[in-house]
Amino acid sequence: MRTLTLRTASIPVLGQGTWRMGESSRDRRAEAEALRAGIDLGMTLIDTAEMYGEGDTESFLGEALAGLRDRVFLVSKVYPHNADRARLPRALAASLRRLRTDHLDLYLLHWRGDVPLGETVEALEAQVRAGTIRAWGVSNFDADDMEELRQAGGGACAVNQILYNVTRRGPEFDLLPALAAQGIAVMAYSPVEQGRLPRTGALAAVAARHGATPYQVALAFTLRHPDVVAIPKAARLAHVQENRRAADLVLTAEDLATLDAAFPPPRRKTPLAML
Ligand code: NAP
Repeated sequence: MRTLTLRTASIPVLGQGTWRMGESSRDRRAEAEALRAGIDLGMTLIDTAEMYGEGDTESFLGEALAGLRDRVFLVSKVYPHNADRARLPRALAASLRRLRTDHLDLYLLHWRGDVPLGETVEALEAQVRAGTIRAWGVSNFDADDMEELRQAGGGACAVNQILYNVTRRGPEFDLLPALAAQGIAVMAYSPVEQGRLPRTGALAAVAARHGATPYQVALAFTLRHPDVVAIPKAARLAHVQENRRAADLVLTAEDLATLDAAFPPPRRKTPLAML
């Protein structure tokens, strides 16, 4: 699979989200199998957060990734209210315990809260020095937040994880170019709009040209940017396999024009949306 080079590592452009996984004991086994199948298919970037299931998803991953830790690029996120110099080390230690690992490959501030950005940056950098995280980044930061982060000493930020997909193109106006200019990778969350993509219309028309599905077209659309990776969540094996194939789907200029007509690119600034 194509990879993208972060400041610290090379990651596959297609990873796996885990929101709402591991919350029901009935589904855990099938979810773990789907996740591991995705890893075997090269989707080795795994995204989670202390928020998901209030730790239950991280605990589920600790089990599901047993024996596979060295093969995955593991991402978790800290709650904004835990992002100060006293709480962040404790929140990280709890995440590591649940995930049964001694380090994260990437640790993100889940969204902006009341803790001064400079303090969060210092707390994150201390963990990089300690070896408990390899890199850090942010999530749900709009262009003005990124500028404040830069001024607060956040030059080492590796990633901004944001809501971006074919039906939510707002970030194309200013945020994606700003991040590209700073060498910060974009991690597109909810890349298939949480399973609510239209199955008819432009996505279906483009899909028909390639013998693909509308979901694969949506993922290929997101991945057409060289600086963007996508982290679809799929608890069903068939979805995991389908999503993996999307990484090899290359959209033509005609396809992109069809999608532009149905989902027009932004012509003015719109505030970054969040799910
Ligand atoms: P998503 O990945 O856009 O959509 C997940 C839903 O789409 C699931 O119901 C899944 O079904 C379905 N799906 C996946 N692939 C499909 C396919 N090929 N065909 C049809 N349906 C398909 O939404 P998301 O979970 O919100 O976002 C992905 C990940 O991003 C999350 O899991 C989380 O890790 C991260 N995230 C981060 C933030 C943040 O604030 N930083 C916010 C939201 C999400 P099944 O599960 O039944 O297979």
